[in-house]
Amino acid sequence: MTRNLITPDPGSGNGSPPLLEIWNLKVHFPDDAGPVRAVDSIDLTVREKECFGIIGESGSGKTVLCLAILGLLPGDASFSGEITFKGENLFSMPSREIRKIRGKEIGAIFQNPATSLDPVFTIGDQLSEALSRGEGFSKAEVNTNLIHLLNRVSIQDPALRIRQYPHELSGGLRQRVMIAMGIAAEPSLIIADEPSSGLDLRIKRRIISLLQDISQNATMFIVTHDLELAEKLFETLAVMYAGEIVEISGCKEFFKAPMHPFSEGLLNSLPSRGMQPIPGSSPSLTALPEGCRFFPRCRYAMEICKNKHPELFSLTGERQVRCFKYA
Ligand code: SF4
Repeated sequence: MTRNLITPDPGSGNGSPPLLEIWNLKVHFPDDAGPVRAVDSIDLTVREKECFGIIGESGSGKTVLCLAILGLLPGDASFSGEITFKGENLFSMPSREIRKIRGKEIGAIFQNPATSLDPVFTIGDQLSEALSRGEGFSKAEVNTNLIHLLNRVSIQDPALRIRQYPHELSGGLRQRVMIAMGIAAEPSLIIADEPSSGLDLRIKRRIISLLQDISQNATMFIVTHDLELAEKLFETLAVMYAGEIVEISGCKEFFKAPMHPFSEGLLNSLPSRGMQPIPGSSPSLTALPEGCRFFPRCRYAMEICKNKHPELFSLTGERQVRCFKYA
């Protein structure tokens, strides 16, 4: 089994010890057409206090990767490989232990707060539960910390908000509540799945700024297809395409000069860079091309790309690219 350790930029991840390591992770789902290879042979290292991001199109496997780390894969998923958190393999822990770690040591910010928050409980009840996973606070301490927590995510009038139900809040406020739940127990690692999804531009920018604040003191692992969020927040990023990683890079270098043809296409589809969409669509995860998975859409495709699957080639520094152009 190979392991791709990422050496962060001087001054960004700062060579801190690894907090989360993923080794040769595969997650497949059964389907009449054959196994859906949602996550295929992924290796990653996230270091302490690093803000690590995954970007890619919808359906590229990003959310499944988050669910695997959180121990929340559906029952029909088959998986292999290792996910170690603080050196402990999460896959070999009993589910009771995983539940303890999730919420207390690994916080989650899920996409779509409209469905992730429980409509029958008040915001205060749901946040109290998240807080009590932390330090074993007394009821009085939970109440004090509730107000403090809502202040931390810049929710005005916290005494009123804790008595309200999710449907009484705007989309932006619900997203802030989701973030508050994710950070409530002061976890060492925060996993966020599309934290800016479905928000209008003004609210999205406030959420990005809030996440920037939180990332000053926490290790974050964020998946998104929002390139504005990625550019503002991430230190290191990985690009996923059709279930696998096709590029790993420092964030600044990536936005300056993406290397994989898919990464280049992603950036070229931004309004600020000409808004040219990538032609074609991603391959079905049940019928992946034999060679490079991006071959049918790639403007640089060569003969070798059709039948041979490229590995992740290591370039200078931390950069790795899955493309024969760099072999
Ligand atoms: Fe394009 Fe070939 Fe690189 Fe795949 S390996 S991205 S087809 S040039």
